[in-house]
Amino acid sequence: EPGLYVTATPIGNLADITYRAVAILKAADLILCEDTRQTAKLCAAYGIDTKRMPYHDHNASRVRPGILKNLAEGAVICLVSDAGTPLISDPGYKLVRDARDAGIRVFPVPGASAAIAALSAAGAPSDQFHFAGFLPPKQGARKKLLDALAGIDATLIFYESASRLSPALAAMAESFGERRGVVARELTKMHEEFREDTLSNLAQVYAEKPPKGEIVIVVFPPEAMAAGPEDIDAFLTDALTRMSVKEAATE
Ligand code: SAM
Repeated sequence: EPGLYVTATPIGNLADITYRAVAILKAADLILCEDTRQTAKLCAAYGIDTKRMPYHDHNASRVRPGILKNLAEGAVICLVSDAGTPLISDPGYKLVRDARDAGIRVFPVPGASAAIAALSAAGAPSDQFHFAGFLPPKQGARKKLLDALAGIDATLIFYESASRLSPALAAMAESFGERRGVVARELTKMHEEFREDTLSNLAQVYAEKPPKGEIVIVVFPPEAMAAGPEDIDAFLTDALTRMSVKEAATE
């Protein structure tokens, strides 16, 4: 069926792609790629010889009208990014928006996303979460955003580059206090690693040993908020019990 297929690709392990994604990538008239060289590797692995064209932040506004015209004329076009799900901290939002406004059908072809992969295995509460994407690089803007996020009663998920990991964790510790976090690194790849600790300990660990690779930061929700007002007695009793257990242990 004609339309725009927003197609998820692997986030590391090449096998993490769906049968449906491979089929539609093969059948499409055109694949819009964040980086054609990156997508070429995927296509080579799965015998996909569909025509490819770049679609990224730098050419998007120039090429979008032509793409929309092709779609309106009945083309089957896939949108992919370098890794994971397009539009999730990746290009594509305006294309999807404009396609919908023009009455063109837009189909999700779901699959991997680093945020969901991290959350699914981190061990943080998963009933409510807030995806915050990349933090602003400038310190002032970053602090303002983190202070605003501090009040959210949910697990927080961030994308971060390896070089900025430690300063980002330190800034989170400053805005959020002593909350726990999980650094999920190199998901689905050979050196996959999950490390859980307080935010300030994590900041210290990664300052001493700068990490490599791709990173998702998962921050646990604020403890006190996790206990609602009706739970406050149970929460305090539990805290007191734990304190006296600790005292007993040190005696
Ligand atoms: N669209 C992608 C998705 O659905 O996950 C995310 C694209 S964003 C430009 C790239 C960022 O995602 C990386 O800087 C990193 O924070 C995170 N990421 C992507 N792949 C990852 C992996 N295998 N392990 C950990 N983080 C990853």
